[in-house]
Amino acid sequence: MISIQRFTFNPYQENTYVLYDESGAAAIIDPGMYYPEEQNELVRFIREQQLKPELLLNTHCHLDHVFGNKFVYDNWSLKPQFHQGELVILQAIPGYAPQMGLSYELSPEPEVFLPEQGTVEFGKSALELIFVPGHSPAHLCFHAREDGFLIGGDALFYRSIGRTDLPGGNHDQLISSIRNNLFILPDDCVVYPGHGQSTTIGFEREHNPFLQ
Ligand SMILES: [Zn+2]
Ligand SMILES: [Zn+2]
Repeated sequence: MISIQRFTFNPYQENTYVLYDESGAAAIIDPGMYYPEEQNELVRFIREQQLKPELLLNTHCHLDHVFGNKFVYDNWSLKPQFHQGELVILQAIPGYAPQMGLSYELSPEPEVFLPEQGTVEFGKSALELIFVPGHSPAHLCFHAREDGFLIGGDALFYRSIGRTDLPGGNHDQLISSIRNNLFILPDDCVVYPGHGQSTTIGFEREHNPFLQ
């Protein structure tokens, strides 16, 4: 069984997730640590739970979701894994972060890119990849089918959806990827988004104002 720990980090209030199972293996998803106390909070949790991080995943490569990639690499020698279509988004960050007054420690680039469909594994657990472009060009969600939850990134939020006015964003594409690739999941599948509170597929199918 996969356990999940949420942290909310950085000036964008981004949700960072640590998934772990009974083997102690862990996956760190969208590490958004920006301030030293946020880095310490993550390390403290991993030490206290005696976890061994085996995977570093990014749903997509906007700044707020990759702030902590370098820190994870320095501490656990993990390079990030994401879809190749996000590399251009990652590489653009040094060009805009300073203008926003933000310091950014350069993320390592992947050795392994993730496909649109497939699975990633850590410990005794597997996550299925779901391709949900639109907020960014090659955004992935991570579905823990047996445990009934989805790490949703910035695709689907509680009563909202990801913004599509950033480079590579496409509103119609986001709507159709949510309908075709997320709304086929079970109603009771819990969505843990990149910002804000968790929700379920069934609730959003019924109440999300962007998808009626
Ligand atoms: Zn984003
Ligand atoms: Zn975000």
